[in-house]
Amino acid sequence: MISAKTLDPARRVWKIASLAAECAMGERYDNVDEVAEAVRNRLLPWFAVHQRQMPWRTRRTPYRVWISELMLQQTRVDQATPYFNRFMRRFPTLKALAGASQEEVLKLWEGLGYYSRARNLHKAAQIIAADFKGRFPRDPAAIRSLPGIGDYTAAAIGSLAYNLDMAVVDGNVVRVLSRLFAFAGDTRLQASRAELQQMADRLLVQGQAGNYNEAMMELGATLCLPRKPRCDDCPLVETCSGFRSGDPARFPAKPPPKKLPHIVVGAGVVTNRKGEVLIAQRRDQDMLGGLWEFPGGKQEPGETIRECIVRELKEELGIVVETGEFLATVRHTYSHFSMEMHTYFARIRSGRPRSLHCKDYRWICIAQLRDFPYSKADLKIIEALESLPRPLR
Ligand code: SF4
Repeated sequence: MISAKTLDPARRVWKIASLAAECAMGERYDNVDEVAEAVRNRLLPWFAVHQRQMPWRTRRTPYRVWISELMLQQTRVDQATPYFNRFMRRFPTLKALAGASQEEVLKLWEGLGYYSRARNLHKAAQIIAADFKGRFPRDPAAIRSLPGIGDYTAAAIGSLAYNLDMAVVDGNVVRVLSRLFAFAGDTRLQASRAELQQMADRLLVQGQAGNYNEAMMELGATLCLPRKPRCDDCPLVETCSGFRSGDPARFPAKPPPKKLPHIVVGAGVVTNRKGEVLIAQRRDQDMLGGLWEFPGGKQEPGETIRECIVRELKEELGIVVETGEFLATVRHTYSHFSMEMHTYFARIRSGRPRSLHCKDYRWICIAQLRDFPYSKADLKIIEALESLPRPLR
């Protein structure tokens, strides 16, 4: 066993701090050693037999782990799989990704949401190509320095690709740990997260971090389910405090649901005599930055939707339009607000489009619409346009 005395000063401080955290955990949770042993002797063998096949598990390179982890955040495995396969076909290497345009990356990300991840991974690929000779860094601090990579993603890459002893704590792991230790804290709080990270670090099987992390996540995804945990099939059932409590599903504590703000948006499908449609590209610094859209924006108090469209298009593109027929209403819920977007056809009465509050704009025919990346809401408008019985004139 490594003694703190034999380490250099910085590692000694770290070792003493982690030993102190271990002791504190042992005092708070009397089943820590029991759970750690069950993780090593039962969870890992269970994972070896029961793990699901996933394309990124066949070859765990840092590049493949990175892309899959970013895609899997907020997305289910079955939804992420076709995206991952398409992405790898088009960008099989980090070099191929670094040499692509941002727009092409966004197009392959279209529908996954959280588009800042796609913009950041593109930037990070370019940094790795320029500053790390195209090789994904191994040092955790260097991994964390890349755009869009926080503690969770760095630990996933470090453990799954390089087998570094780093424990990951994602939503599934939070649920498993909360139940194993009957942890009643509010898991949204920083202090709770730190405590859960300590639990994960304590259970980590040294030298097998990749398998340990994947096994914990797999347990959360397949057995330790949010509403109805399948404890009878669980390899950790004998050591689980949540199970012993008789009601494991009450962990982690559920905060009261937040009421999301709702916004109403007006958007114009501006057409010209050639039957083309005007689309605008959102600015990089804005939400959904880099994606294309039918221009428009948020309705202001006292304004009709038609008035909103006229005002927004003047502000965004410097054109004065007159609105025509109604096309569609689409609804979408983002993580922090819900939205309904009302779309009307429109024609330019005066002015020529300019990029005032957008990155770029284009006149394109309906057949070209899908060459550009859009948000889910704008894709629904495209579907409505494609289903029109007559061409645009
Ligand atoms: S015994 Fe049940 S609650 Fe405990 S970890 Fe296993 S599935 Fe989750």
